[in-house]
Amino acid sequence: MRIRRLKLAGFKSFVDPAELVIEPGLTGIVGPNGCGKSNLLEAIRWVMGEASPKSLRGGGMDDVIFAGTAQRPARAFAEVALALERTHGDGATTEAEVVRRIERGAGSAYRLDGRDVRQKDVALLFADAATGAHSPALVSQGRIGAIIAARPAERRAMLEEAAGIAGLHVRRRDAEQKLRATEANLERLDQLLGEMD
Ligand code: ATP
Repeated sequence: MRIRRLKLAGFKSFVDPAELVIEPGLTGIVGPNGCGKSNLLEAIRWVMGEASPKSLRGGGMDDVIFAGTAQRPARAFAEVALALERTHGDGATTEAEVVRRIERGAGSAYRLDGRDVRQKDVALLFADAATGAHSPALVSQGRIGAIIAARPAERRAMLEEAAGIAGLHVRRRDAEQKLRATEANLERLDQLLGEMD
């Protein structure tokens, strides 16, 4: 999977719609202090499903919405879109677009190629491609120190993500839940059959 474009509107300091084309290879963001470098990285993590406001340097999720300045009023919503190039097993590539939008006081919603999807679907899409909101490939300030100081369980999670198997844990939990529900249904069915005999 490759990120081709990042589009933002109303996200943190990016109040006006902005579009960045991300070329193949290593991408670095440079600029003066406070120009919004970290905000760009946070926008990528946010659209990938980041659920913790703290890891986006905010107190609540609404803090990602442009809060206004002396010159400009605050915005009511923020939207971030990622255009992705996905490579399939047979080597063929397709484009996909993931969008996350948040309205002040109303929470956020996700779309994948125009269809409404859940946060979980988006997180799985990235986990299967060996990336995601917590990927060590997105190197923000302080991240290298955090990786060095990580506990063994945290390192394991990073390795699992890099191997593209992080999504298997979620699927296993889902499968176990379905299995338990099916077992309960079978038990109930047995009871009913017993009552009919
Ligand atoms: P540095 O090089 O100092 O780390 P940076 O280029 O990474 O800075 P960011 O931390 O991305 O800069 O951006 C900080 C700017 O974003 C600040 O001016 C801050 O006021 C602004 N900002 C953050 N959240 C919002 C928001 N919700 N609304 C408006 N502006 C915001």
